[in-house]
Amino acid sequence: VKKKGSKYEKQAQPVKQTAVLGAGIMGGGIAYQSASKGIPILMKDIKEEAIELGLKEARKLFAKQTERGKLTTEQMAEKLANIRPTLSYGDFGHVDLVVEAVVENPKVKDAVLAEVEGLIGENTILTSNTSTISINRLAENLKRPENFCGMHFFNPVHRMPLVEVIRGEKSSDAAVAATVAYARAMGKTPIVVNDCPGFLVNRVLFPYFGGFNFLVEQGADFQRIDKVMETFGWPMGPAYLLDVVGMDTAVHAGEVMAEGFPERMAQMDGKESKTAIQVMVENERLGQKNDKGFYAYE
Ligand code: NAD
Repeated sequence: VKKKGSKYEKQAQPVKQTAVLGAGIMGGGIAYQSASKGIPILMKDIKEEAIELGLKEARKLFAKQTERGKLTTEQMAEKLANIRPTLSYGDFGHVDLVVEAVVENPKVKDAVLAEVEGLIGENTILTSNTSTISINRLAENLKRPENFCGMHFFNPVHRMPLVEVIRGEKSSDAAVAATVAYARAMGKTPIVVNDCPGFLVNRVLFPYFGGFNFLVEQGADFQRIDKVMETFGWPMGPAYLLDVVGMDTAVHAGEVMAEGFPERMAQMDGKESKTAIQVMVENERLGQKNDKGFYAYE
């Protein structure tokens, strides 16, 4: 871990126009954060509903700021206009940096990254917000792996200060520098980390989810586990955190982690028996994204 990436910042090219692929929990959050710091961002998805949801969330967050007197209505409109929703790649030729934030599925990511790489400029930096998939692995199918690195935000993006910038074997200093600079311009604290499944934070977090799965399998009540972890002093327990993360994303990420660290992630691979999180997905309880997870939301 290199503290705050200061070495890189000195070499950074300015990031003025950006784009995010995916308008889901993370893509929408990234678009809001960029827009709120005055950095224009194209927000692309394949589904109109996702775009509408992403914009609705951004509007809600900006509205909160106006209610608190932090933004005037005009300022809010100006900031919101920094998000340009789209279903096409039309303007991608003019962006300095792209954040890929589509579903946590290596095959989908490979296809999307290759597709966008063919449309962006030669010097455009391409990043992935993957939670767990190795950056070297994703770089394998790219023509310009030197322009690629990880840019891993945490959920909810507007509240979580940390961004992991993942340096792949072929990532250039310029790519890492621009990504660190963009994270800083978004008001975040970037750390540059080396590549491995789960990077730094999720290597700590997923064994914790594995422990939670194990307890639930043994018959423990998830609400009691949450209460205990809150009493321990954590802001939320594992069941609530999984609702925030999204159960489908947690399953995909758990599979990648179990493949990368089989000896430590036995409770996440679901090979011997289904994990509590897999059962939730089968029952379409995806968490806050569809209003029902371990808890019910309205
Ligand atoms: P999500 O399911 O909320 O959103 C994914 C979005 O991608 C959907 O709107 C979907 O329509 C869209 N999409 C799918 N294929 C696409 C394509 N070809 N082009 C454009 N859009 C496409 O998922 P999420 O929670 O936002 O996760 C996105 C990424 O961020 C994943 O890689 C995930 O691991 C990572 N991540 C998630 C969290 C979290 O807590 N949820 C935290 C950090 C990182």
